[in-house]
Amino acid sequence: MIQEKISVFDIFKICIGPSSSHTMGPWVAANTFINALDKSSIDTIYVKLFGSLSKTGKGHGTDIAVMMGLSGHDVKTIDVHKLEDYVDYIKLTKQLPLSAELSIPFNPSIQIEFTNERLTQHANALTFIAKLKSGELVEETFYSIGGGFILQEGKEIGERSDFNFPFPIENEKDLLLYINETNLPISEIVRHNELTVRDNATIQKDLIEIWNVMLASIYKGCQTPGILPGGLNVKRRASEMSFLLLKEKTPQTLPDWIECIRQSDQSFTTIIKWVSCFALAVNEENASFGRIVTAPTNGAAGVIPAVLMYYLCFCENKGEEDIVKFLLTAGEMGCLFKKGATISAAMGGCQAEIGVSSAMAAGALTERLGGTPKQVMMATEIAMEHHLGLTCDPIMGLVQVPCIERNTMGAIKAITACQIALTSDPEKAKVSLDSIIKTMKETAFDMHEKYKETSEGGLAINVSVGIPEC
Ligand code: SF4
Repeated sequence: MIQEKISVFDIFKICIGPSSSHTMGPWVAANTFINALDKSSIDTIYVKLFGSLSKTGKGHGTDIAVMMGLSGHDVKTIDVHKLEDYVDYIKLTKQLPLSAELSIPFNPSIQIEFTNERLTQHANALTFIAKLKSGELVEETFYSIGGGFILQEGKEIGERSDFNFPFPIENEKDLLLYINETNLPISEIVRHNELTVRDNATIQKDLIEIWNVMLASIYKGCQTPGILPGGLNVKRRASEMSFLLLKEKTPQTLPDWIECIRQSDQSFTTIIKWVSCFALAVNEENASFGRIVTAPTNGAAGVIPAVLMYYLCFCENKGEEDIVKFLLTAGEMGCLFKKGATISAAMGGCQAEIGVSSAMAAGALTERLGGTPKQVMMATEIAMEHHLGLTCDPIMGLVQVPCIERNTMGAIKAITACQIALTSDPEKAKVSLDSIIKTMKETAFDMHEKYKETSEGGLAINVSVGIPEC
């Protein structure tokens, strides 16, 4: 079996909301499918969505992602302000641009089919069928396996020859071995692995770029009032919360805004409100198709930025190097859950999203606050332990309720888990990180499908959304 080699840059990816599995994955799959074809030979394209992509794809923007991916847009660089125009153009003209000069007829309401069928291999599947001008049909099926990762049917996970990690890590046991051998903190072990792919200056630059996108999403979310799209009429709350917390202050720039936060009173109530505000801000941006960082998913994109912002604003820190180390450690904790369990809500419910992001943040914060590697793993374990069994039941299939608030809970639990670990002896812990990952995986298997991003159970069926019946 090929050992899965995952970089922290696979865990943290710059993209747009609202979902890594339902938006980013299908988008990248569409890119992959179209780029493998001679575009001038294509007559028509059909897309079939299966399983969870079919059940909650409308609320998660899967149809939009597919159209943008087939049109060749890059999920990392697309101008989010033009997204609506691009989609409206296709819907109104019924033309799908494949390049600047080439378009084909495409009616999304007919040629993107929400099938209500489920493929056995994975809950998130989609098939692209291109009819070529020669009459030949080209058909490819992809699986969106969480966090923006995709698999193409018939293709194994490729051996990544450029990933010649000196410390290949599958589980906690491996990590403990390297810690004992090297006496290095987890962030440095991870850095050594990443150095086989990019030099240190690039690691620093790329991780700071990731942080800057996270920070921008916090700031933008805190400046933007209004109602979220999708029809549920959810009010954005981060901007009002930020305004109230700033009291009389009216900072005009991002650095000034951060400085005002740092000067806030350090009471428990104020800090908890700011942490919640940061998490709400990111996920309100995510729900608005805004630019965010998958961490490790979009639905859970607010937890890690909120905890890192908490660290930068309310704890002593040394600057950019601490941000880099925080993300290196958090990324590796995410890799452990991806390899040993899942980061897909369609496979494991919300424990796989908010639970994993909270565990990642808890471990990273613990290292930055001086915890030993064993305390880092203990904090990661504690945060997941108290998310086990968390279901995914988004109302109307939108990544809004319970998702946005749930990020605040993930962030607060991460800080709590960190504080418990910092004052505990990991040698006396009853639950290891490996055992919690195993438990999470088994819980995922046992969880009823209606709680796995299908919107067929839980809040999704018990909350009246006030939409009049036709
Ligand atoms: S309930 Fe959790 S897992 Fe489900 S869409 Fe919302 S954030 Fe993601």
